[in-house]
Formats: sequence, structure tokens, C-alpha cells
Amino acid sequence: MSTDEFVARSHILHRTFSERPSKIVKGDGISLILENGKRVIDASCGPSVSCLGHSQPEVFEAITNHLRDDIAYVYSGSPYTNAATEELADILLADKPGGLSKAIFVNSGSEATDAALKLAVQYWHERGQPKRTHFIGRKQSYHGNTIGALCVSGHESRREFYQDFMSSNVSFVDPCYAYRMKNANESDEAFVQRLAQQFENEILRVGPNRVAGFIAETVSGTTLGCLPAVPGYFKAIREICDKYEVLLILDEIICGMGKTGTMHAWEQEGIRGPDIQTIGKALGAGFVPLSGVLLHQKIFDALSAGSGGLAHGHTFQAHPLACAAAIAAQKIIKRDNLIERSRIMGDKLEALLRKEIGPHPLVGDIRGRGLFWAVEFVLDKDMKTPFPINANFCSQVVKNSLNLGLNILGNLGHTGEYQVDHILVCPPYTVTDGELE
Ligand code: PLP
Repeated sequence: MSTDEFVARSHILHRTFSERPSKIVKGDGISLILENGKRVIDASCGPSVSCLGHSQPEVFEAITNHLRDDIAYVYSGSPYTNAATEELADILLADKPGGLSKAIFVNSGSEATDAALKLAVQYWHERGQPKRTHFIGRKQSYHGNTIGALCVSGHESRREFYQDFMSSNVSFVDPCYAYRMKNANESDEAFVQRLAQQFENEILRVGPNRVAGFIAETVSGTTLGCLPAVPGYFKAIREICDKYEVLLILDEIICGMGKTGTMHAWEQEGIRGPDIQTIGKALGAGFVPLSGVLLHQKIFDALSAGSGGLAHGHTFQAHPLACAAAIAAQKIIKRDNLIERSRIMGDKLEALLRKEIGPHPLVGDIRGRGLFWAVEFVLDKDMKTPFPINANFCSQVVKNSLNLGLNILGNLGHTGEYQVDHILVCPPYTVTDGELE
């Protein structure tokens, strides 16, 4: 069957119309097994999701046990709770990391972003400052695909069709993208100072009493390619947020839950933590759709002193089955020291990438942390010249990799202001030396 015939016949509206997708019939550790028996190494775990690989009998068992012995569905808007939801929140928050003390579980990262924004707005409402509804995000950022999440995402091409829906109560500052934006001879300190000043200026331009929050990925994932900030950046951002009481919202949907070698990526930034944090992907390790929002105690204090409830909710919020699967995944990660393993294997991955791929004339930058790495491609290494817009270089890398049995997530270069052709290399925490090679 030709691609056109397949696309026309399938009742699924696939995300691309130009390629016929191969059918996956099973997962086996890091591998995907296709209908024709071919094995493909899933080097990016989808978009950095399946952090325990594709087959984890203990998680499968937890899911079936839960369905047999417990409740499949509880409506979070009813006067009921359930054991799985409570236990997952306990696992994440018993130690109150950075003062985070309450959780909301939703289905997708985009919903988590929406919930985070709405919580911030409600927080200011309850605090008697209802005019604080403006958010500052960063250019080239991605926080999700719902309209709310897209409003605070600076990624131009994802916003393109929906400009008419984009809120005017959002503005953007530069990301901490040292590879392209740090001037020659500029120190990290001076670069941080420049970005911090731009952020402070933006708060002052909008008016501090109008700014609800600043949203950023702690380590930028798909749009800028596993990009950690330069040292001191988040410290400076946290200080400015504190100065103007702007809420710091850290999006760790892709970079959190152990990916970078610590449970939360912000732990490596020398800050006390965010006021609101989003998590997803590795939370349920891909066995179930699950994301979440973690709130600082101060947010809860304001909400509970206010109108007496949460002005936000979904039908499938805090789904017990999803929480049961995530509990099993998180217990395995803890029991098997997999976050430390992601650090150790991450060092090996970095060394391999730098040795085997780094010298290639089209490889401009290799960056990341833990088991969360990206390779940025350029036309000219010395000049850092990006590929022409629409050259789709990355798509070719992805296609050729697939022919070699390697599934890798590539991001199309053109994001508006910069050309960022990159692939994501983020294998599961259980990856072996042989698989890394
Ligand atoms: N935030 C970040 C940083 C992401 O990488 C993503 C997805 O890739 C999202 C939010 C949106 O998550 P979802 O696709 O689960 O809605």
C-alpha cells in the first residue's frame, strides 16, 4: 500500500501525511519491535518519556493489580479520594522538596502548564491583587500545545496558526542560550547579568503589580535541545522574582523526575526551588498518561485562606490507575538507584557523544545533563551557521538513523528567530553500556 493510500484509508489522523508510519507491536527494554519483526533502538524514549524502557513487568503487574483490587476511576470533583492518588503525592512531596507541599495530577504536560498558570492567577486573586495576570516566558520555549500553554510558549512555528488566540498578557525575554547568544569574550557572569537585567526591565515595563509569574524550563528540552542554563542564571532569576514577588514557575515536564541526574533539575541550580513546578513524561514512565503540578506551601496557604477551593479541574484529574502505575515506576526508580544511574550512564553517554559524534564537521554543539542530551547541527562549525530554513536537515538525520535501526527524536530547525537543528539522545535510566555504544 502506498503512503497516500494508507493515509487516506486510516481512520487515525496521523501527525504527518507524507510518511507511512510503521506499526509497533511490542516493546522490549530500550527496543521497539515492529510488525515485520525488525527491532529499533528507541534512543530518545519517544519525547524523553519511557525512562524505564518499554517493558517493565512490575509496572504491568501494578496496573493489573490495581484494576483487580482497587478503584479504576474516581471523579476528583466528588467528595472522595483514593489510596493511589494520595500515595503518589506522598512519594513526591513527603520531604517537601524546596517547600513544595501539594500536588495536582492531570493527564498531559499541556494540562499541567494550564493548571500552573491558572493557579498563579488564582493565587494573586486570593492575595487581593487580581490585576496580576501577565506572564513572562522565554523566546523559543515550549510549554505545551493547548491554547493556554501555547500562549506562554515562545516557539514561533507552533504558535503560527493560532496567533489570534494568543494572549496579549504574555511577553517574552531571551532564553539562556549560551551557544548562540553569549558574546565572544563575554563571561558567564556578564551573560547572566545581561539576561537578568533584560528580565527585570521587562517586569518594570509591564509593571510589577501586573506580573503574575515567570515560566521557564529548568533545562530546555525540545525547542533548544537539552539546554542547561549557565551557572548563576536561575539564582539571578530567583532573586528578581523575589524582589518583585513574581512567581517562579519551572517547567520540568521533560527535564524532571531524574532525567538530569537529580530528581528535580532545579536542585542543580543553587536555588531554594520554584513556587510552582510542572512534571510529566517520566512521572508515569510512559506506561500511563500522567503529568502534575507541584505547589509551594505559600500557594496553598493563599488559596486555602481565600475562596475555599480550587478554581480548576478536569474529569480525569488524579486518575487512580495512572497514579498506581506511576507509584510502581517511582518505587523502581528509588529502589534501583536509577537517578544516580542516570548520572553515571549520562557521563558515559556524554563521553561517547563527544568522542564519536563531536568531531563531525556538521556538529556544532553537544549539551545536556544526566541522560538528557542533544546534538545541535550546523552548516559551518566555526561560524555556527545554521542550516537554511526548510532545509530539514534534522529530518534527514532522523530518517537515516531509522534506516540504521535507531529511533531518535529530531527537531525541525526553524523556530522563528533561530535555526536549531538538533536531535535528542535520552535513553532510559536502565540503558546498558552496550546499548549506549
Ligand atoms: N512542557 C515541556 C517542556 C514539554 O517538553 C512538553 C512536551 O513535550 C510539554 C510541556 C507538553 O506536554 P504534553 O505533550 O504531555 O502535553
